[in-house]
Order: sequence, then C-alpha cells, then structure tokens
Amino acid sequence: MGVQMEELTWATVIEANGMIVAEMLAERLKAANIPAQAIQESVGSTFAFTGGPLGTVYVRVPVQYLDEARELLDVEEPADEDDIVVCPECESDIELDDTEWEQGWFVCPVCNTRVSLDDLF
Ligand SMILES: [Zn+2]
Repeated sequence: MGVQMEELTWATVIEANGMIVAEMLAERLKAANIPAQAIQESVGSTFAFTGGPLGTVYVRVPVQYLDEARELLDVEEPADEDDIVVCPECESDIELDDTEWEQGWFVCPVCNTRVSLDDLF
C-alpha cells in the first residue's frame, strides 16, 4: 500500500467484541479501498491476560475516511466519545467535527482559546 501509516491520524469507526470480528470488518473496509486496521487495546504488558482474544478491539481508519467507513459498515453517527476532547484551558468537554479534526485545531466555545490537537494527544 502506498499509504504512509505513520503520518495518518486514525479514528475509531467501531468497536468489535473480539479480534476475529474486528478483522472481518477491517477487511470489508480494505475491500472498499479504505485503509483499515484492527487494534486491540492493551493494558500495560499484561495484555494477553487482561484483553485476550475476546477483549474489545477497535477498528480504525484514517480520520479522512471516517464518514465513508461508517457508511460502509452502517455505523450510526454517534455522540462518539472519540470525538470529544477536553479543553486544556477550561476543562470543558468539546465535541469536534470532522473539519476541526482535519485542520488540527479548534477554538473552544466555552473559553475561546485556540487549542492545537497536537497538544492534546
Ligand atoms: Zn476552553
């Protein structure tokens, strides 16, 4: 694939219960030319025991493919926790839209501070 993974910002399309389901969903996305990966959250280094093959697995795509991927997998646009960031100035929960993710910054509607997403992650 010609995509340079390291430079992409990945966003969660859907959480799957287990790696097999997640891989299947990721394959469906890849079949539609959407770069996708299935990522299992690991807790420290004890992931084999805390997560195991039945843990929650996140299917991720580059953020610019998010809408397309959701549509493809028929995922409803949620009040997605992944879209919510905490303003470092006033600690409000702010829900970002796609434009803000893509541009890499937002202006906090509560305290009017311009926040760079790079500072948050
Ligand atoms: Zn704020």
